[in-house]
Amino acid sequence: MKHPIRLLLTLSLLLSPLAAKTSQWKQGVTFLSFLRTHNLPQSLYYNLDADDKEVLAEIHAGQEYYIEEGRKSSTYLIPVTDELQVKVVKNSDGKHEISLDLIPFEVLSGSIHFEIQKNLDKELYTKTHSMGLVKSLKEVYSKNINLNKMKKGDTVTIFYEQKRRKGKAVGNPIILASLITVNKQKYYGFLAEDGKYYDSLGKEYQKIKKFTTPFMPPICNCRISSGYTMRRFHPILHRYKAHLGIDYAAPRGTAIKATAQGKIIFKGRKSGYGNCVEIEHGNGLKSIYAHMSKFNNRFKKGSHVSQGTVIGYVGSTGRSTGPHLHFGMYKNGRPVNPGNYISVKKEQAPVRLAGKPYQKLRKLVVNYRSKFKNVQKTGGQPLYVMEGGLLIKKKEIDT
Ligand SMILES: [Zn+2]
Repeated sequence: MKHPIRLLLTLSLLLSPLAAKTSQWKQGVTFLSFLRTHNLPQSLYYNLDADDKEVLAEIHAGQEYYIEEGRKSSTYLIPVTDELQVKVVKNSDGKHEISLDLIPFEVLSGSIHFEIQKNLDKELYTKTHSMGLVKSLKEVYSKNINLNKMKKGDTVTIFYEQKRRKGKAVGNPIILASLITVNKQKYYGFLAEDGKYYDSLGKEYQKIKKFTTPFMPPICNCRISSGYTMRRFHPILHRYKAHLGIDYAAPRGTAIKATAQGKIIFKGRKSGYGNCVEIEHGNGLKSIYAHMSKFNNRFKKGSHVSQGTVIGYVGSTGRSTGPHLHFGMYKNGRPVNPGNYISVKKEQAPVRLAGKPYQKLRKLVVNYRSKFKNVQKTGGQPLYVMEGGLLIKKKEIDT
């Protein structure tokens, strides 16, 4: 390596987009017009596969993106979701590259212990300014223990992680281990490798009640040609691939139905998605139906539709390889797996870990023993969300 210093500088430039120019994705800008504006070849877009073209249609107006002008190359970083970004590199030799990448994050660790004086939610919020941590704690126990009933003298101990990007908190904190005492009774919660929470003996904190989902499949008996993936590393292309919805292969003209009742908030063309309809269902939920050949013109933006109402017909508009329906769902603007909403969940007995997963969990429990003792003495080192979402370690403002 001849110039380690220059390499380091380049790396730090890439890692700190703060040094980059920040722009905002304007209303009506498509990825193609973006390429044109920046003198980038249109082929970058046309050579992508259909899934990637759909992902690019997700870039929304108002999104901040970054341009890093280097001596030898320019890099454009455009976030698509909280986790994914499109990266376009223009090299001085005239070569261009485009890829879908994971957005690099910093992960901060926090811990907190306190005795409740009056109200868990308020006190946890006062100490961390993180509504997300309150939510995450409730998710650990909510199906088994009602945290709203905790009172003076009960205690809370939490170990957690929070993603940070450009100084700001991203997403909700992830609780790694927690202990609450209710009337002197201890309830541990440990995050296992399967992403679920278990008590210290490996019993799952979950009790799903049988319910019929209020969402139905938007189309009848069709083959799913592409499922939902938030990110998937492609071993040959060496980059991340994503598909933010479910594709149903169906003949042109097949009726597309509203997955649930709601209000039509968009009806029209969206570059990669072609003719599409968006329906708002309340509770922060939204569904999208893309690549339609025709709309049902009985409805327009603002119309209310009931579940099962035909809103349009399968087609191949936008960036699509053949007639299919792209069906996406969003919670508070973030893509979620529609499969979790349209499938009927059955009553399940809580799982008890056994074998290797159980041994791994027990190891975790033993490792955390001394950590819990420590934090109960010191009160922990909580993270603190400042105004504007800036995330810092609490001790940084206390000292
Ligand atoms: Zn799709």
